[in-house]
This record gives sequence, structure tokens and C-alpha cells, in this order.
Amino acid sequence: MNYPDSVERSTEYLRLALPMMSRQAAALHPKSYAIWYDYVSGRTASLRGAIDSHLAKHGQLDEASTDAVFQKYIAEMDPAAAKRMTDGFQRILTNMADSAAQAGDKTAKYGDALERLSSELSTQDDPSSMVSEVLQDTRDMSEAMATLRAKLDDSQKQINVLREEVLKARRESMQDALTGLANRRAFDHQMAVCLAAAQMAPPAEAGTNQRAACLVTSDIDHFKRINDTFGHGFGDQVLRAVSQVIKACTPGDSMAARVGGEEFAILIPEVELNDARQIAEKIRLAVAKARIRRQDTQEVIASVTMSLGVTLYRMGEDAREFIDRADRALYASKSGGRDRVTVMAA
Ligand code: GH3
Ligand code: MG
Ligand code: MG
Repeated sequence: MNYPDSVERSTEYLRLALPMMSRQAAALHPKSYAIWYDYVSGRTASLRGAIDSHLAKHGQLDEASTDAVFQKYIAEMDPAAAKRMTDGFQRILTNMADSAAQAGDKTAKYGDALERLSSELSTQDDPSSMVSEVLQDTRDMSEAMATLRAKLDDSQKQINVLREEVLKARRESMQDALTGLANRRAFDHQMAVCLAAAQMAPPAEAGTNQRAACLVTSDIDHFKRINDTFGHGFGDQVLRAVSQVIKACTPGDSMAARVGGEEFAILIPEVELNDARQIAEKIRLAVAKARIRRQDTQEVIASVTMSLGVTLYRMGEDAREFIDRADRALYASKSGGRDRVTVMAA
């Protein structure tokens, strides 16, 4: 999606979109902003038509209909477009908040000056009727400014709420709801960033071990059995417990993500293959050692194992080749008997 409008124009669209967004049942988030921005700009006639006919029938847009309009007319945003959009949105919000504050200060000062003038005039004896009129006008104007100021304060509060919503939506769009790890979208984005950085890295010096991004892929062994034996709810508990272990073993500069049902990936920037293997081995051991208890009785009812694959990034290859090689290493661990780490050199 593309937003070619100038800052002035888009600020105007925001001003128009804000009250419309706030009248809906849907929360104020980037998707909702995207459709109302489009609506007020009149860019897409079919979107406007769809919203108008929905409003005529149902009065409001709720989360589901907001999402449906977004999917149909604006389409799924790729992470880069989503980031551009939320960044742009936040810039506009910040500008608006600043101008609201400035305008508020100016009107307050002007109001004070007028009030002082009016009290000086009223202390003079026998003011002429013209002076009385000026006095009355001054008071009216003061009042109008106080109202305007209250309105500006109010829209500033709305903007702050909206900004929080945008930040929250952005966090949530990158996070797996069950485990709190990064989700597939965040992982794909991080992978693109990491590979772009890798293209800029200088080649390894002679005599030193090669350092590059390493990828660890992993999959819980016989997870279907756990679900079948103990139920899906317990399976979810296992996924959360395994995620905790993975998180605890993942270096601070790396990203651990849940990339599928019971599949996880860890992307480690700038590391030797052997160090990445050790991280994978630490995860394998910690998972195998963990005893998972029933939440209510604390009774130990299951232990799980994991199979892992590790590989090093080869300069120039794309993400697909890198991930496929890590997956081949993972499947070698599965076919070799599970509960093990396989390393596949670049
Ligand atoms: P393997 O050792 O070969 O990996 O066997 P497996 O049983 O782990 O693999 P399989 O692909 O047959 O089963 C994966 C199971 O994971 C099936 C699916 O129902 C379950 N699953 C996927 N997502 C979730 C989830 O979010 N929660 C729960 N509880 N189960 C899930
Ligand atoms: Mg699997
Ligand atoms: Mg599995």
C-alpha cells in the first residue's frame, strides 16, 4: 500500500478520520486507521461504498467488519508496509499533538491578556456604551477560546489513546499469542534484516573461524501423542513450557520464534557454527530434562524431547535456501531417532 499524500494533506485526513473511527465499535488500531484514512481521502470508491452500505444497515463497524473491509480493499500488509504505515501514522499523531499543545498555549496567553485588558477597562468610571460593547465582545471571545482549548485538550487525549493503541497493535502483530515468542511474520522480517546485514559483512580473515548468521530449527517429538493422550489444553501448556526453555537459552541479540504449530526457529546473528550447535544442544538437554506438571495437582505427567537442526548462512544465498538446509538438518535428526541435534555445514 502506498501513501503519497503530503504531511499537510494526511494531517487533514487524520483530522477527518479520527471522529469517524471513534464512532465505531472497533478499537483504534492501524487497520481501522487504514480503512478510515482511505475512506476520507476518497481514494477507493468501492471501499467507501462498502462502508456506507454497512453503516446504513448496521450503524457501526465492529472488529470483524473492520477486518473484512481491510482484507478486501486494502489487503494484507507485508511487515515493511505495516511498519511504514504505523511510522507515518505516529509521525502525524505527534505533529498533531504538538500543534494542539502550541495552539492551546497561544489561546491561553491571548485569553489572559484580554481578561487583563477587560478588567482594566471595567475599573474606569462610566465607560461609554462602545467600551461596554468591546468588553462584552472580549468576554465572548475569551469564552470561545476557553471552549476551543478544552476541545484541543480533549483531542490531545484522544491522540494519546490512539498512539497507545497503535503501539499495542504493532507489538501484538509480531507476537505469538500462545507462547509470547516472536511469530512467523516477525521471524520473516528479522530474517530479511539479518540477511541484508550479512551481505555487508566483510569476509572472514584467514586463520579465523567463519562467523555468520546461524539458524536453528526445531520440532517437538511425537507431539501429536501428547495431545492425544493428555488433551489439547495440556499440549498448549507444553508449548508454553518449551517456549520458556527456548527463550532462556536464546542469546540477547538473537530471535526465537514459533514458526509453526510445534516448530520453533532461532536466528543467531554473527556466530560460529560450533557455538550455534552448543546453543541447540543446550535447548535439547533443557527440554529433555524438564518435567511438565499438571497445573492443578502439580503431578508430573509428561516429558518431551525435541529434534533440532543447525546451519550456517552461506554468503549470497536467499532465505529459502538457508531455511531449507536447516530443515534438512532437522529431518536428519528425526530420521536418526529424534532427541538430537544435527549440524549441516553451509
Ligand atoms: P514428529 O516427532 O515426527 O514431529 O511427530 P509429531 O507428532 O510431533 O508431528 P505431527 O506433525 O504428526 O503432529 C504435530 C501436532 O501438533 C499435530 C497438531 O494437532 C499439533 N498442534 C499444532 N499446533 C498446536 C497447538 O497450537 N496446540 C496444540 N495443543 N497442538 C498443536
Ligand atoms: Mg511438526
Ligand atoms: Mg513434531
